[in-house]
Amino acid sequence: MKSKAALLREFSKPLSIENVEIEEPKGEEVLIKIQGAGICRTDLRIWKGLEARPTFKLPIILGHENSGKIVKMGELVKGFREGDNVVVYATWGDLTCRYCKEGKYSLCKNQTIPGQTTNGGFSEYMLVRSYRWLVKLNTLNTVEAAPLADAGTTSMGAIRQALPFINKFSDPIVVINGIGGLATYTIQILKAMLNNLTIIAISRKKEHREIALKLGADYAIELKDAEELISKISDLGASVVIDLVGNEESTYRLSKLLSQEGALILVGIEGKRVSLDTFDTVVWNKKLLGSNYGTLNDLQDVVSLAEKGKIKSLISKESLDNINEAFKRLDEGNIEGRIVITP
Ligand SMILES: [Zn+2]
Repeated sequence: MKSKAALLREFSKPLSIENVEIEEPKGEEVLIKIQGAGICRTDLRIWKGLEARPTFKLPIILGHENSGKIVKMGELVKGFREGDNVVVYATWGDLTCRYCKEGKYSLCKNQTIPGQTTNGGFSEYMLVRSYRWLVKLNTLNTVEAAPLADAGTTSMGAIRQALPFINKFSDPIVVINGIGGLATYTIQILKAMLNNLTIIAISRKKEHREIALKLGADYAIELKDAEELISKISDLGASVVIDLVGNEESTYRLSKLLSQEGALILVGIEGKRVSLDTFDTVVWNKKLLGSNYGTLNDLQDVVSLAEKGKIKSLISKESLDNINEAFKRLDEGNIEGRIVITP
């Protein structure tokens, strides 16, 4: 069928709004009418040609934070009906390797990512390879749900890795570095899941620090002030740092904020390299853990928190026709929360 879509034909050039042909669903496939497609910084990097996966090919429809309504299904689809509102998990494993069998689809070497290795959601319609990648929405509207597919799930994945370290401390301190789309969820999820927690949000931008405070961070400061603040409120140091930026220099400085046995959960990949002092690692037993995306369960968990009203999406809507304008705004950093395309 025909679908209006934003195609990336040439890196760093405006996306081209065209009518494309979307295949009919067969087997386990599901055709979705997209109602929300979040724009992520990864989309910007792909658009600039900075982050192409090995099987990446132009032209492509970007967009990996997708939600919408099921309009058509293949004959092998189970547990869903036409008309269901769904959000789409964004790492489609091959379902055959060891990691897929353990539900760790983001470790699958044959993974397909909508908007990165196959067509994504900046389009009226999108074909999902299997119903297994869908999470049904009960009360949550599809526009609010879209960013949960990546920003929400990635936050939940990082928090799941952080929990064993947080739980080692009676008065845990969690430092979150980089206040953008991801952090809005990280702060809210931590608040919803734990109550004896101190959250310190770190950002260079005053407006972003204000958002962090509104969402429930106890402190919002610049990195240069973090050491002094932590020494005032704790004898130990931070239990966990969730670094959503991953800049070589700031990541190192963040590692110095950790308590003994604390963990730095690295989510952002701005830098090429990360280093910790050997003494911190060996003697103080500080840990460095990478966290990429989350599991299908993590997506289900954030959907459930959102349906209970415990986390909210900060969203500004934009039409498909205005997508190039929206990319520009995100590139300039002039946004709060997530821009969601509503085709
Ligand atoms: Zn696999």
